[in-house]
Amino acid sequence: MYTSGMAKIAAKTVFKTILLTSGWAKNIAVEVDDGGIISNISVGETGGIDGIAIPGIANAHSHAFQRAFAGKTEKRGKDGDDFWAWRKVMYSALKDVGPEELRAIAAQLYVEMLKSGYTGVAEFHYLHHQADGTPYENRTAMSDALITAATDTGIDFTLLPVLYMRGDFGEAGVDDDQRPFTNSPDDYSALLQMLQGKCQIGVALHSLRAVPEEIVREINSVSAGGPIHIHIAEQVREVNHCFETHGKRPVEWLLENADVNAAWNLVHATHINADEVAGIAESGATVVLCPTTEANLGDGIFPLENFLKAGGRYAIGSDSHVSVDPREELRLLEYGQRLTLKRRAIAGENPGATLWQGALGAAAMGDALDGIQVGARANIVVLDENSPAIAGCKGDEFLDALVFAGQPSPVRDVMAGGVWRVKDYHHPGEDAIKAAYLSTFNKL
Ligand SMILES: [Zn+2]
Repeated sequence: MYTSGMAKIAAKTVFKTILLTSGWAKNIAVEVDDGGIISNISVGETGGIDGIAIPGIANAHSHAFQRAFAGKTEKRGKDGDDFWAWRKVMYSALKDVGPEELRAIAAQLYVEMLKSGYTGVAEFHYLHHQADGTPYENRTAMSDALITAATDTGIDFTLLPVLYMRGDFGEAGVDDDQRPFTNSPDDYSALLQMLQGKCQIGVALHSLRAVPEEIVREINSVSAGGPIHIHIAEQVREVNHCFETHGKRPVEWLLENADVNAAWNLVHATHINADEVAGIAESGATVVLCPTTEANLGDGIFPLENFLKAGGRYAIGSDSHVSVDPREELRLLEYGQRLTLKRRAIAGENPGATLWQGALGAAAMGDALDGIQVGARANIVVLDENSPAIAGCKGDEFLDALVFAGQPSPVRDVMAGGVWRVKDYHHPGEDAIKAAYLSTFNKL
């Protein structure tokens, strides 16, 4: 198996054209410290690399194991198909995924992410145990598999171990097919403890339906300053169940009952009313949108225009991995608005540039700063200026063309955490990782 252990930090790189947090610039040197953080940016350098350098984007919501089933569940059953029918298929498909399989699947996925311009991933990890719910002898076996896949590929990585305790609002336990996900609060705390120091860690509550109310109220004290993620209002059915149980909608209930702040990431805040739009924006929380998965599962459309007007923060994720490309997520995010509002350029004057720079996702990873600036992670994507996709562009037009027309992708080189992981459209481990993935997949 390929491992990226030998890869070196690019201590200083000069870029001919680069999009800094402060704007477009020419002939810029970016210096990176041993921890992969940008330590200095200086102007007036010569001999820079060709191409258009832009900030890398974090994939703020991923369930790695679902990569193996993406595109394989597109068949309507006798009684039609919806999110809940899809979930049954997904539950039955994950039964054979153990640590070895998960490592192979995640490594393939993370190479795909890097090559598409995702420089980091926040892994919303709930597949903790064996299919019947029996914990592995090593309780961190599945987490370790994901950490190893991230290390092997070099993607920036934040693990979000998920707490999952019940099947639905008001229930005491889980269904049989949810046993691989379940932990008691004590076991969950122990898991977090065991993972400390292995990688960047946050916490995640699966959803309001899957976690008792008192734990949602207390979760800030468990998170130790890291990011907090939750699936919040993906499906109309769960919004209705929440309302029947609490007399409140999910986001409404959360904002009233938990200390929602800038550490929080509300995944699929799809179904929100005007008060909830304002409330999330005011809290400083990030909304994590996964437009291709949300479209695939028939979830609904997030009210982006109103949320941006309220000053809300957002990030994107590939979630079930029906697409692993930030351009497709951002394009569909804008197109959902165009189709419902019957206007163009909803996200901004240059919607591609607005969306790319708005969705960088550092907060979802637990990082302090976004973009290419001193103190931020050195996460940089270089576009091939000779690609037909972006030919003739200037400034923000590069990002508009990238998001709305970039086939094939002009993403040529990718630096994650200060290390070049993709060069000339190629990841050094991709052949070995693909071979391992295919051999694993064929046994599933
Ligand atoms: Zn999810």
